[in-house]
Amino acid sequence: MAETMLKFVDKDRETPLKRAAEARRADFEEIYEEFSPAKAEAQASRCSQCGVPFCQYHCPLTNNIPDWLKAAAGGRLREAYDLSAATNSMPEICGRICPQDRLCEGSCVIEQSGHGTVTIGAVEKFLTETAFENGWVQPIRAPRERGQSVGIVGAGPAGLAAAEALRLKGYKPVVYDRYDRAGGLLIYGIPNFKLEKEIVQRRVDRLIDGGVEFKLNCEIGKDLSFEELRARHDATLVATGVYKARETALPNIAAKGVVQALDYLTASNKAGLGDVLAPAQKSALNAKGKQVVVIGGGDTAMDCVRTAVRQGATSVTCLYRRDRANMPGSQRETANAEEEGVVFEWLAAPKAIFGTARKATGVRAQRMRLGRPDASGRQAPEETDEHFDLDAQLIILALGFDPEDLPELWGAPELRTSRWGTLAISEKNQETRLPGVFAAGDIVRGASLVVWAIKDGRDAAEGIHAMLQERARAARIAAE
Ligand SMILES: Cc1cc2nc3c(=O)[nH]c(=O)nc-3n(C[C@H](O)[C@H](O)[C@H](O)COP(=O)(O)OP(=O)(O)OC[C@H]3O[C@@H](n4cnc5c(N)ncnc54)[C@H](O)[C@@H]3O)c2cc1C
Ligand code: SF4
Repeated sequence: MAETMLKFVDKDRETPLKRAAEARRADFEEIYEEFSPAKAEAQASRCSQCGVPFCQYHCPLTNNIPDWLKAAAGGRLREAYDLSAATNSMPEICGRICPQDRLCEGSCVIEQSGHGTVTIGAVEKFLTETAFENGWVQPIRAPRERGQSVGIVGAGPAGLAAAEALRLKGYKPVVYDRYDRAGGLLIYGIPNFKLEKEIVQRRVDRLIDGGVEFKLNCEIGKDLSFEELRARHDATLVATGVYKARETALPNIAAKGVVQALDYLTASNKAGLGDVLAPAQKSALNAKGKQVVVIGGGDTAMDCVRTAVRQGATSVTCLYRRDRANMPGSQRETANAEEEGVVFEWLAAPKAIFGTARKATGVRAQRMRLGRPDASGRQAPEETDEHFDLDAQLIILALGFDPEDLPELWGAPELRTSRWGTLAISEKNQETRLPGVFAAGDIVRGASLVVWAIKDGRDAAEGIHAMLQERARAARIAAE
């Protein structure tokens, strides 16, 4: 091992080449190049093969990172891919958009010793892309048909991961989504420059080829009742995400020119996919030639500022009420945004929108300072006496999302919720309080991460399988 591994002392950390900021600003293409095989092997060889691999423990999927790094460093790329795919339904997507700086790479031991973390995410992406190129990504083939179906509501990463796992066990998953394309936020939230749509579609196509059925443009609770859905299938999985935008009570908030982040990003993603937008939407949800202010400091805000740059905004400013160290968004994406020309006003909260109902013209921002820690343990922002004003014709609110009230919307009060409005589930098997109905992803956790949605989807598939097996066993005993 010593020959191929532990090279962190004499090999510097390198990330894949990033396109120059000026070129990035002009298009929506992904910004990172691919590692060459030699570079991926060299970077993987920096791993010190820790006896207690903190990277693995801090990965929600407990990916076997040290083992696949070792195989990659030794040029055994197929073995490395197989190890990586054993615990992750879409490693090439996690490799691109996981906030590795907060998960595996943020816990890497050699980072703690000052050598710079192993570039786990970039190697992960390289391995799966190499696997696709070489035909190592196997079609989904069920070993036997069980003759039972599972209705999955939501074609985001939680629903897709569950569909794959269930199909591999021989069930017939039917995925319902109110949108016209499968992928959830991977398609209509996250922009192309982080994750190109073909990458998501490739996964969806593989599921279709493997026997997963998609019923798109079908909203449960509207086009099909929840009751009818349950009656159609042997089990049900709810993976609907969270979409209720958090509100703020600012003077003039309803002014034209103030828009919700997801409306803005969805319009941009649809335009990128070649969809024709209504003329009013096209101009209201486009930053071209406008001064733009984005309010918020999470991943959604980072995607908005960088989308606005690419649409040709004349200036883009992000207001966040805490400081940089306390922002929820990825530090990597914030650095990318800065390189692309976004101005960050840390410790600044919106106080009022200027303009008339017909036209927003600017934002007043209050300077904040960090006070005592609040109930969450984070220092609470407090207002100071200072404020400043910014001109803006487009103001994008990226303040987070809350769950919709599904029990109310679907007429199913037995689907209990937590005090945050997310669906309450059993930690043991992801089952809700309604027998036979499981839940996964953001609708359980609140706005979270793709990797957690994948983990929940896989766990829910296990829970559903165990429940259906138990039901069949009980039926056999009753018949005897
Ligand atoms: C702008 C943005 C950027 C993000 N960037 C990142 C990132 O870089 N990295 C990361 O890890 N995470 C990121 N996230 C978070 C990540 O996208 C989510 O945590 C993840 O997509 C949740 O997966 P999900 O399957 O639970 O829900 P979703 O992806 O939201 O999918 C839910 C699906 O359910 C469908 N649906 C909802 N209600 C119904 C209904 N009644 N009937 C039928 N279908 C329904 C929706 O149409 C949707 O397709 C980002 C989120 C946003 C908003
Ligand atoms: S923590 Fe870092 S050095 Fe240790 S096994 Fe994981 S990737 Fe390798």
